[in-house]
Amino acid sequence: MTHPNHDQHDRDRLNDGGLPIAETTTPLSQVSAADALKYAAALIGQRAEWTTSAIGGCDCGADHDLELGAIVETSREITAVAAGFGDLSRYSDGRRVLSSREIAPGLVAEHIWHPDPAAEKPRSYRGTLGHDPGEPCPGLYEVETDPATQELHVRVVRTA
Ligand SMILES: [Zn+2]
Repeated sequence: MTHPNHDQHDRDRLNDGGLPIAETTTPLSQVSAADALKYAAALIGQRAEWTTSAIGGCDCGADHDLELGAIVETSREITAVAAGFGDLSRYSDGRRVLSSREIAPGLVAEHIWHPDPAAEKPRSYRGTLGHDPGEPCPGLYEVETDPATQELHVRVVRTA
């Protein structure tokens, strides 16, 4: 498995939240185990959605049911353990685990916040607005994350 280069500014293939991988710069001891588990559950949940749609859409002839089941089951198990520590949408300090903002109808930016805001740098990614095959691309969007305020700033540039 290859991991995308997250220093790369243009990350078209990572739209719908950019599948952020936090650069952990502070020791995890500053984060409670419960918060770390909620973070893990959110990440695996979001990525399982992404991989399920990508693998499920594979047209190689195999159905990949076993592999898809393994990923989804892993997500379910981690989420079940994390749920033992209370509200999965909030960290212990009240910060949101995930924020989302609509970019355009049917296109939503999602970002999962690291439980320690100091461990996460603001970042931005770009993508193209969706369109039907054969139609011109209607434009671009850019999403900027702000870990300090937990805001997602969205900019849309329409070109068609
Ligand atoms: Zn396949």
